[in-house]
Amino acid sequence: MPSYDYDLFVIGGGSGGVRSGRVAASMGKKVGIAEEYRYGGTCVIRGCVPKKLFVYASQFHEHFEDSAGFGWTVGETSFDWTKLIAAKDKEIERLEGLYRKGLENAKADIFDSRAELVDAHTVRLTKTGQTVTAEHIVIATGGTPNPHAHLPGHELCISSNEAFHLEKLPKSILIAGGGYIAVEFANIFHGLGVETTLIYRGKEILSRFDGDLRRGLHNAMTAKGIRIICQDIIAEVSRKGEALSVATKEGETLHVDTVMLALGRDPYTNGLGLEAAGVKTDARGAIIVDEYSRTSVPHIFALGDVTDRVQLTPVAIHEAMCFIETVYKNNPTKPDHELIATAVFSQPEIGTVGLSEEAAAAKYDEIEVYRAEFRPMKATLSGRQEKMLMKLIVNAADKKVVGAHILGHDAGEMAQLLGITLKAGCTKDDFDRTMAVHPTAAEELVTMYNPSYRIRNGERV
Ligand code: NDP
Repeated sequence: MPSYDYDLFVIGGGSGGVRSGRVAASMGKKVGIAEEYRYGGTCVIRGCVPKKLFVYASQFHEHFEDSAGFGWTVGETSFDWTKLIAAKDKEIERLEGLYRKGLENAKADIFDSRAELVDAHTVRLTKTGQTVTAEHIVIATGGTPNPHAHLPGHELCISSNEAFHLEKLPKSILIAGGGYIAVEFANIFHGLGVETTLIYRGKEILSRFDGDLRRGLHNAMTAKGIRIICQDIIAEVSRKGEALSVATKEGETLHVDTVMLALGRDPYTNGLGLEAAGVKTDARGAIIVDEYSRTSVPHIFALGDVTDRVQLTPVAIHEAMCFIETVYKNNPTKPDHELIATAVFSQPEIGTVGLSEEAAAAKYDEIEVYRAEFRPMKATLSGRQEKMLMKLIVNAADKKVVGAHILGHDAGEMAQLLGITLKAGCTKDDFDRTMAVHPTAAEELVTMYNPSYRIRNGERV
């Protein structure tokens, strides 16, 4: 048996990398881990966590407005972007510290350096030039915003990375894309008082979601004052003094302070030495893995966004735990990518799990759609014109709930619990015999007794 410096070397200190390294080290394995930027990865440093803090910040102006209906008088309000950034940075620093501490406590060797593969068992730490060998290697380098390099003027645009560190809040912003990041940031910037426009190439934002939710969110965002341009893309960005001039393909010209591109994220594999190690990638640069997250080199595994399977933090963590089971617990375990509940932290929020109405109608001969649209209780006194939307999609043949979709406050929280019910294979009867929690919005989920409509062989009946 050849001997190695490490049992496991992990490249990338994000959700998947830290979890696999920390757990392996706590099992007594000799583990090294390298991160070129900051421990915590995209989620903690410049993704989910700071984004959610921004979402909270952006909601206050509506809270102030709504309070009047409940008898409150709120004095003059103002918002300080630099204070928010400083508070956010402090919290992110605390979380980063916890990630490091977890690794330290497990006795992993932490390297603050970029790491590249030299061969199938050797990693070079570029900061010092030191090379180390490992029996197993995990690549968990994540993803990076697609820079859209062929767009004239792309270098004048920002991505979500920079959005977390802008020196000052822009007066106006154009956000390109219709996915999670574009939609969430459009709502954040609008909520903070920025004149916001979103431009999306498709017919309707959030392409893989249930159609009702897409239209509902679009309408709600427009009603708030966010301009959404569909079926158009940015053709060119140029500087005009302090502002940016944007020409769209359909011939519109916009003048804004900032342009943000949120056009998907690419696997971060450039220059990693994958070829030298024999690790294969696909056309997008994503590392190709089998069902166990094993790459084309049997002792090298890849986890999380770098594999371009499902770009979500909990998925990377789950893949890391499956890696531990497979490699260190003699219990080969495939990550389960079925029925992943997810939330879009738009305003209103989206929470969803399972098949959209459109996907279910295409898959099953007949589906039942249970749909409720109502004014949430808080809006009765606040006077806010908003609707909450809830949908259950049921396969008529066996009454299984195959999709659950919510648009409105706390939709993400509800989606988490609905995820359990769908995973458990609950039927509509299970929902019906569940007692409601009153008064909540979620009670609608167990009180929609009759289908709103059915779709049989693709036809609404
Ligand atoms: P998404 O894949 O969600 O959206 C990308 C958007 O860019 C889509 O609307 C897509 O259009 C559009 N697009 C792609 N290429 C082009 C192009 N060449 N020209 C014009 N439009 C284009 O990616 P995001 O960047 O928003 O987010 C990356 C990932 O991060 C998400 O997939 C998600 O998994 C994760 N994420 C999750 C969050 C959460 O859980 N709340 C929050 C933020 C990110 P089309 O739809 O037509 O393909």
